[in-house]
Amino acid sequence: MNDPVYLYRGEVFYFKASPLDTDDFYCYFPDGLLVVSQGKIIETGTYQDIKDRYPETSITDYSGKLLMPGLIDSHVHYPQSEMIGMYGRQLLDWLNEYTYPTEEAFCNPEYAERVARFFVNELFRNGTTTCMAYATVHKESVDALFSVASGYNMQMLTGKVLMNRNAPQVLMDTEESGESDSRELIETWHKKGRNLYVITPRFSITSTHGQLISAARLHEEYPDTYVQTHLSENKNEIDSTLSLSPECTDYLEVYERAGLVTERAVFGHCIHLSDSECRRMAEAGAIIAHCPTSNLFLGSGLFDMQQANRINIRTTLATDVGGGTSFSLFRTMGEAYKVQQLNGYSMPVFESLYKCTRGTAKALKLDDKIGSFEQGREADFIVVDYAATPSQQIRKEYLERNGKWDLENKLFGIQTLGDDRNIRATYVAGNRVYLSDSGNHQETGM
Ligand SMILES: [Zn+2]
Repeated sequence: MNDPVYLYRGEVFYFKASPLDTDDFYCYFPDGLLVVSQGKIIETGTYQDIKDRYPETSITDYSGKLLMPGLIDSHVHYPQSEMIGMYGRQLLDWLNEYTYPTEEAFCNPEYAERVARFFVNELFRNGTTTCMAYATVHKESVDALFSVASGYNMQMLTGKVLMNRNAPQVLMDTEESGESDSRELIETWHKKGRNLYVITPRFSITSTHGQLISAARLHEEYPDTYVQTHLSENKNEIDSTLSLSPECTDYLEVYERAGLVTERAVFGHCIHLSDSECRRMAEAGAIIAHCPTSNLFLGSGLFDMQQANRINIRTTLATDVGGGTSFSLFRTMGEAYKVQQLNGYSMPVFESLYKCTRGTAKALKLDDKIGSFEQGREADFIVVDYAATPSQQIRKEYLERNGKWDLENKLFGIQTLGDDRNIRATYVAGNRVYLSDSGNHQETGM
């Protein structure tokens, strides 16, 4: 093999299956080696076993740090990057007061590009290498994000928001223009490089039944696109939805009647679902994106992970910035844990981490490309410092003294105390796209 090979030494970890399905669900090499060539994973294993096979190759040494697949954020609004953490009441007021005025600016391509660039770099700084993002109603907003992502050869999923009612006039499309703009964007971007298109009706309050039908028609025409929308986030939202669709007995039915509940559809929030709605989602193979920082911030409610697990719905974790208050999926995992604590479920750290990596990749049918270190996967990976703060350091020393510095405690510390400060480096398709300033590791291979 003549292509250059890159070796990374550290604690190599990835999921090989769901912790909900089996006890043998991960690979972990405490002194491991990750082998990358042409932007793809060649192999992983213990340092001792592998190093002699590549005698000529220098090694980037991240010893003592965790090398794991990049995190995947399954629900985030890139145009809301600037309006993160804005004081407000609940969902519907917050949309009117902050979101819609902010999104108006994205008709300007330069503006959209500037925010898209900030957004993608912020993802990398937080260890996120793939996201499924909402753009705005403007085609320009989608062009901007796909363009920036293409510059990094990053796996990006996004799409133009569809909204043809109950929104400011300047932010509305029509059934016809929404469909034709989406079709044009699909033709331009879908499956070009690592870009994938997501048909994006914001939610039922802002899309007529006709527009939802046109979204489903597009999805049928391009069956390997995705669908994303919001479902059952807030009680007032549910009431408004049902008063707009009195023929439906519950919220999910609004999307079912349009044909949008499929195994390629990601529904944000899903906090107040009935067992019947959950069962129907599971039967359809639909995906839930649970967004705990957003749900707490907007006071939307406590998502019931046990209900979703019991009924076997594919569930992922997501930040939902700007309703969410952090770009960090580690922070998001920590808040998901607290939300489940209030529901009487102490969710294992392996479950939450799976739902930000391989679990999300699998739900999105991208597990042959991302989410693990199996051979041939894209080399999207992160280097995680277990002790990036004094408090993490003293916790580490305490656990070491007590012989409890094991994988589960390490990961639980990252989940509970970690954030962007723990990300030492981020790689996308084999290229380093982020390196923290505080890095004191030795680099010999790049
Ligand atoms: Zn959202």
